[in-house]
Amino acid sequence: MLEFELRDRDAGARLGRLTVKGKRIETPLFLPVYNPNIPVITPREMRETYGFEAVMTNAYIIYRHEHLRVRALEEGVHSLLGFDGVVFTDSGAYQTFRARLELSQAEIVRFQEEIGVDVGVMLDSPSRGESYDECKRSVLETADRGEEWSRLRTEGRAAWEGVIQGGAYRELLELSCTLMSRLEFDIYAVGVPPKYWMSYDFEAIAVQGLTCRMGIPPEKPLHAFGMGNPIVLPLLAAIGYDIFDSASYAIYARDGRYMTEWGVKRVEELDYLPCSCPVCVKTDARELKEMTEDERIHLLARHNLYMIRREVNAIKQAIRENSLWELVQERARAHPNILRALIRVLEDGWSYLRRVDPVRKRSALFYSGRETLLRPELRRALERVRERLGCVKIPSALSETYPFGQSVLEPGILEFDGRRYSDLERVRIIADYQFGPGVGLRLIPDDARIEKSRKTGRIRRIWLDDVLIAALRPGDGFLSLHIEGGLRLKEALEPPRYRVYLADAPKLLDAVKSGGDVFSKFVAKCDPLIIPKEEVLVVNMNDRLLAVGQALLAGFEMGRFRRGVAVKVRKGVEEW
Ligand code: ZN
Repeated sequence: MLEFELRDRDAGARLGRLTVKGKRIETPLFLPVYNPNIPVITPREMRETYGFEAVMTNAYIIYRHEHLRVRALEEGVHSLLGFDGVVFTDSGAYQTFRARLELSQAEIVRFQEEIGVDVGVMLDSPSRGESYDECKRSVLETADRGEEWSRLRTEGRAAWEGVIQGGAYRELLELSCTLMSRLEFDIYAVGVPPKYWMSYDFEAIAVQGLTCRMGIPPEKPLHAFGMGNPIVLPLLAAIGYDIFDSASYAIYARDGRYMTEWGVKRVEELDYLPCSCPVCVKTDARELKEMTEDERIHLLARHNLYMIRREVNAIKQAIRENSLWELVQERARAHPNILRALIRVLEDGWSYLRRVDPVRKRSALFYSGRETLLRPELRRALERVRERLGCVKIPSALSETYPFGQSVLEPGILEFDGRRYSDLERVRIIADYQFGPGVGLRLIPDDARIEKSRKTGRIRRIWLDDVLIAALRPGDGFLSLHIEGGLRLKEALEPPRYRVYLADAPKLLDAVKSGGDVFSKFVAKCDPLIIPKEEVLVVNMNDRLLAVGQALLAGFEMGRFRRGVAVKVRKGVEEW
């Protein structure tokens, strides 16, 4: 019903593509929430002016108001909203619960199907308080309701979100993830306890998100319910949240609040409007203060939605450039609680982030505070120097290899050994750093020829007679393997290290041998330790080399995504 494909990534964030009922949308995805009873900005305007391809509305509100319910049942929810993009609905569990109204799972599931929503939400059982026992009740009851949902829904009519409960308790969140992952939800959603966002407790919000990201299957998108303060979105994207929704643009507007990238300001505090959106270039702070309340809400909601759109695009661009941590670090200077949350994420999330954050990046690593030293790129690289090379100081052979050659850090943070290495020693050290101890000797024989650029004098390629072993990437100083290099690496490393195995289907193997990319669904098994952007060996089940390429997915994700590329193939054995 819903397909999720990963197209690019940075930190724990995923630039992905969701396909639902033939409509495609990109993640990280922000869903502006639309309440048909209090329309501030219409879904049509959200799409046409702001470019939002998906919105969220509340199925329970439509259900409860007869004029809306009748129209939705007759014409469908898209016509009711005047929106032909992707419609997500909330089941209103929270509202029913506050109003102590009984609405059954059967009614709300059927209703969401009948009005033709694209992505619906099960009716979960939110916790009534914050105690451990109450949160545990909510976890277990929501799991029971999940079972109930799986019997009630009609397959193929809508995609569905399952809800993770557990409040502030890590073990309950983990239990909820385990129980809900057994059910066939398309997306998992997490409700952030209101006390967290009301007190700006971004640390608790981030830890909750990280626990859920690690607890649900990697191929499933993760949705943060009701997170609409733009300054925290980069951090939440960096830990692996894919979807956000909020009515904050309208709620803040009604409350006279103006969003900026440094936090939310009250209109009374503003002497200037630090923004160049179409609203702010035509209005000044004095006019905003003096206009009628209705006019002000109208303009503030629009400015706020522009800010959210801007931030979501900044996140996507940062993922593309591999500079998402830099963006998060910048936002961490807007509020100390974001900085605290970031440090906690880097510390607690290390075991996860080290496996998903790409091993080499398109952008330089910039120092922007002490937390830079906790970043997975840097910690992982220094760990490799210690464990793979057995060195305390960084060999200057790695002075052009990521992240050492691309980092702009404070002096003294990276200590090089200052030795002079021959070209052969240099490329062997890079190989050991990249693939493991002793690989350099096996990959690059004594009689290898090292070709250098005539212009820059830098190493470009490594040959054995007239056969190419590997090239040295000019941007990040990593080796890219060619077939001879792949064969040699395979001999140097015990299976399954750095291998991606494909099932024995002749057509599939032929396609890969002639250079076709490896799709995740065809991966039969693989080395679970592969990190995105690492060089990998594509082999058949008998460990015969088919191709060399670079991983887009982490090893533990390959085979799990049903759509999209797992390995971008550089050379197939047939092309050799
Ligand atoms: Zn503006």
